[in-house]
Amino acid sequence: MSFELLDLAATHGAEHVAFAADEETGLRAIVAIHSTVLGPGLGGTRFYPFASEHDALVDVLRLAKGMTYKHAACGNDLGGAKAVIIGDPRTIRTDELIRAYGRLIDRLGGRYLTAEDVGTTQADMDLIRTVTPYVTGVSESLGGSGDPSPATAWGVYHALKAVAERLWGSATLEGRHVAISGIGKVGSALARHLAAAGCELTLADVRRDVAAALADELGARTIDPDAIHQVECDVLSPCALGATINEVSIPALRCAAVCGCANNQLATEADGERLAAAGVLYAPDYVVNAGGVINIADELGSDGYHRDRAWKRVATIHDTVLRIFAIADEQGITPAAAADHLAEQRLAAKSHA
Ligand code: NAD
Repeated sequence: MSFELLDLAATHGAEHVAFAADEETGLRAIVAIHSTVLGPGLGGTRFYPFASEHDALVDVLRLAKGMTYKHAACGNDLGGAKAVIIGDPRTIRTDELIRAYGRLIDRLGGRYLTAEDVGTTQADMDLIRTVTPYVTGVSESLGGSGDPSPATAWGVYHALKAVAERLWGSATLEGRHVAISGIGKVGSALARHLAAAGCELTLADVRRDVAAALADELGARTIDPDAIHQVECDVLSPCALGATINEVSIPALRCAAVCGCANNQLATEADGERLAAAGVLYAPDYVVNAGGVINIADELGSDGYHRDRAWKRVATIHDTVLRIFAIADEQGITPAAAADHLAEQRLAAKSHA
């Protein structure tokens, strides 16, 4: 396997970028470690048919930086990192390739800890565990924390309580109308929590049968996925794709707040300003959806993973979201900018300690 460890600090803001190519298995991978100021870099491995190595590099650097902010804001003692395997997992994935990838991670000596992401599975993490200890999110039977989605949904639920507290003076969600776009692993678990809390729900998914079945179960309404942004409701919860909050959707919004698990909900930075100008409160996505990484971080303690302890910490997303709204007020900035500020403050405090 060819292996190159580059120091790109001057050009990309990342501490290290490792490129690997393995002729035997066809593995082509890039690991980007953006920051280890708070601890080893932890972030998932995306297995995706990028059009070029350049595209893969741009994506992995952007995602690694995002992980630095996510860990910092939620209080994890972890750094930001991400990895990509270039290629279509449906055609090139073999156990040998995944093991070769695991050996690459092992060579990084613990400065990068991997996890599941788009295109990789828990089974891949279990296989990686056979060649390196530097992997998280392995099966519960192997002492891991398993699927992060339930913890992510638990975190979004607590972020919604913070939104309610901020807007209506009480964390109770009973009687509030939440419109959820994307009834996948996180969206469906969130819908169940909200139904149990007495919320009115409107559900939308491109898999209409999935949304209809859950709506039947929970006594909710469904709506066309293209119309969810226009639903008159208390909170819109984007739980599908990114960039759905943009200059087209914002003028159509009829909600008091946006709070969901999807990554990169704002199409551009300016959309944070647009939301604020439209009087819509935004709970920053990477803070709201940190439940999964908080849960995984619990695996790394000396006594291993404890679900109750992990979920208690996930619930602190409520306090973090309220803190971010307070910073936004104090500094006259948007909640999205306030989340970055909180993360940067924590990084600066550790750098100067
Ligand atoms: P998922 O694939 O299980 O669910 C996504 C759902 O969105 C699917 O049901 C899909 O049919 C639906 N969908 C796709 N396009 C849609 C559209 N245009 N309108 C409405 N619905 C649409 O994914 P997930 O694990 O639930 O994650 C959802 C989002 O949250 C993703 O953006 C993901 O990156 C982010 N996220 C997930 C986790 C986690 O722990 N799973 C953690 C952090 C962030």
